[in-house]
Amino acid sequence: MSTSASRVAIVTGAARGIGAATAVRLAADGLAVAGLDLDEPAAKETADTISAAGGRSIAVGADVADAEAVAAAVARVTETLGAPTVLVNNAGITRDNLLFKMSESDWDAVIAVHLRGTFLMTKAVQAHMVAARWGRIVNLSSTSALGNRGQANYAAAKAGIQGLTKTLAIELGKFGITVNSIAPGFIQTEMTKATAERLGQDWDAYVTARAAQIPVARAGVPEDIAHAVSFFVGEAAGFVSGQVLYVAGGPKA
Ligand code: NAP
Repeated sequence: MSTSASRVAIVTGAARGIGAATAVRLAADGLAVAGLDLDEPAAKETADTISAAGGRSIAVGADVADAEAVAAAVARVTETLGAPTVLVNNAGITRDNLLFKMSESDWDAVIAVHLRGTFLMTKAVQAHMVAARWGRIVNLSSTSALGNRGQANYAAAKAGIQGLTKTLAIELGKFGITVNSIAPGFIQTEMTKATAERLGQDWDAYVTARAAQIPVARAGVPEDIAHAVSFFVGEAAGFVSGQVLYVAGGPKA
């Protein structure tokens, strides 16, 4: 068995989009993968895809912003697949609005899933990594961390994730744990489809317009991000920590 084959990963928000592609990619890399999502039946589709390809995977239903649910989920992964030493904090939501129209509940919901969720999941999983003296944490930020009209809540959360990433890299490094962040640009998923709908724009026209602003002249796909996660999780990336990698098809957000 290769080293990767003895590793267990948890990917949050794994039912679809970037999380699903990342779960499938890490399984192809040889890891056992627990796909966590609010909607366990939807996450099971990802786990079934992995199992059908010969990998080891389970689906776990949990809200990453709920401390009890997180503890139960991590315990179940540990019992079923083994102690997790790879964590991809990917679960996310948007509740976009200009500041003067943004409700407190939309502010709180976005901060809760992204920041509290990343904090709770990491706190729950790091004990296994410390025990193993090895770990890989990858946190999903966004180019919106640099500022994006209509996303004060989301931009604050994604910028916060970058600070959290750098701090945890400093705290956990001595245990053989790396902590990095990926900041995607425009990726075609249900999340960006919902944005196009909210703006009243046809999806294909929206993708074409966004792609026209991207130096590599195309929109991103979830596999573009999964590939970057795979790099950070790899055995050979042990000297790369506390970094934010913008995966956006060009140098600017
Ligand atoms: P997506 O298609 O909307 O998928 C997000 C997944 O997270 C969904 O399956 C969702 O479950 C799940 N989720 C939401 N809240 C959760 C919670 N509290 N606990 C557990 N799971 C939860 O989004 P995506 O585009 O793949 O985005 C993935 C990550 O990349 C997010 O962090 C996002 O902010 C970030 N990102 C995306 C883009 C982009 O262009 N797509 C760009 C930059 C950053 P439900 O379906 O049940 O709601």
